[in-house]
Amino acid sequence: MTLAPPAGALPDLVTHWVDGAPHEGDASRRGDVYDPATGAVARSVCFASAADVDLAVAGASRAASQWRETSLSRRTSVLFAFRELLAVHRDELAAVITAEHGKVLSDAAGEVSRGLEVVEFACGMPHLLKGSFTEGASTNVDVSSLRQPLGVVAVISPFNFPAMVPMWFFPIAIAAGNAVVLKPSEKDPSASLLLARLWAEAGLPDGVFTVVQGDKVAVDRLLEHPDVKAVSFVGSTPVARYVYETATSHGKRVQALGGAKNHMVVLPDADLDLAADAAVNAGFGSAGERCMAVSAVVAVEPVGDELVRRIAERATGLVVGDGRRSCDMGPLITGAHRDKVASYVDAGEAAGATVVVDGRTPETDAEGEGFFLGPTLLDHVEPAMSVYTDEIFGPVLSVVRVGSYDEALALVNANPYGNGTAIFTNDGGAARRFQHEVEVGMIGINVPVPVPMAYYSFGGWKSSLFGDLHAHGTDGVQFFTRAKVVTSRWLDPSHGGIDLGFPTNA
Ligand code: NAD
Repeated sequence: MTLAPPAGALPDLVTHWVDGAPHEGDASRRGDVYDPATGAVARSVCFASAADVDLAVAGASRAASQWRETSLSRRTSVLFAFRELLAVHRDELAAVITAEHGKVLSDAAGEVSRGLEVVEFACGMPHLLKGSFTEGASTNVDVSSLRQPLGVVAVISPFNFPAMVPMWFFPIAIAAGNAVVLKPSEKDPSASLLLARLWAEAGLPDGVFTVVQGDKVAVDRLLEHPDVKAVSFVGSTPVARYVYETATSHGKRVQALGGAKNHMVVLPDADLDLAADAAVNAGFGSAGERCMAVSAVVAVEPVGDELVRRIAERATGLVVGDGRRSCDMGPLITGAHRDKVASYVDAGEAAGATVVVDGRTPETDAEGEGFFLGPTLLDHVEPAMSVYTDEIFGPVLSVVRVGSYDEALALVNANPYGNGTAIFTNDGGAARRFQHEVEVGMIGINVPVPVPMAYYSFGGWKSSLFGDLHAHGTDGVQFFTRAKVVTSRWLDPSHGGIDLGFPTNA
């Protein structure tokens, strides 16, 4: 069964999804959606007004009050059906992602698979929501705890994973009995509608999964709306900080995941071929537009010269082109972003870094003026250069050379971001020391992109996450539910009498 047209024939207008159906809303605000491989405008997307958001949240609110009363086994059966549909439509969803994001098809399919893992985790919600019970906590008194859904929760997601990042949150939120309003990135909005159709096909009641498309106007209304009880945000650090501060000031619980600057430390004993493979895969996969991409390789001398040589050898062999065809790396998301990333390479060169591999004028097989930048390798990058201090979010690897493990650790820990990091070594003691001492949320030991499995939680430290609870895993279950503790006593005549003292545990 095909639920959506092939990616090449997506509708001209990407709508909202409200009360279980497409919804156009306010016709006065629209945005362009590009095909980044050709540089052409492919379609347009509705931008919600505040009134559109209010309508969507009202529908979600009605649905939430019914859905929380639906039995766990019924809710879970919808999750299982959604899981099956997602697996069947994985390639179709990947094609939609590639058409608007640009990443190569295999990478897009990988993104869907990682989202699917969270759906599978959420299928275990009956177990995850089990409360606790203490019999006889005091004489004839029992105590139990239970967790309940919050109501309507908002998910606001970035462009770089239009399917996976929303799926870090909504399967768990829905399985726990909430209704979700998703505000996807306006740059690649179509995947959200395919996901909405899959939910409908799986039997999810109308309004439990809602999509509002748009920009800051939609986000701001969600942040202040009294019926939105929680906000899960993923995006750049300045917006994550703004979302955290604004939504918490409106009384909501918030998890806001921000940007990153991920370091890969290579110790002198590491296998340099494997380290070079890892640096290339983690630096240039998805054109560097991953929050877990490696952007700084920290070479502990004397490995610098040899490591740079081996990374350069591999980087120059990568094929850049239209992600729908056979290639290693697709375009960047917009022309403006491509130009911004290239300007960091210019600035690094001007500040004295050595451009070892220059991707500023890449050769591609694509038709038109796609937003391409080839893999770029800078050596002798210094910590004060903007190419090091800023999150670049493109296919640019910077090599910083240091003299010792301690210098490498100090560099990583001085960075304001703390999303992911990796160490490459065959020395177990050094690796163990690193995992203990480094101030970063997700650590890879000979693993360059250490994205936790769905049953662990995903999240960084410092400016990479605002809030307390990370995404998915048991943190996700806690985030989307709130706890009650019940103290009960079944009365008999011996319990009578007046006693104004504070209850004790007799
Ligand atoms: P972005 O911050 O520009 O946008 C994210 C979302 O916020 C989008 O839905 C967008 O419409 C909305 N938004 C943008 N500007 C806003 C504003 N001023 N007010 C209110 N809402 C606004 O991020 P992006 O460019 O879409 O995504 C790339 C960024 O996301 C990178 O910084 C990357 O590191 C980060 N990211 C982080 C993680 C993580 O887990 N920490 C994962 C993926 C991406």
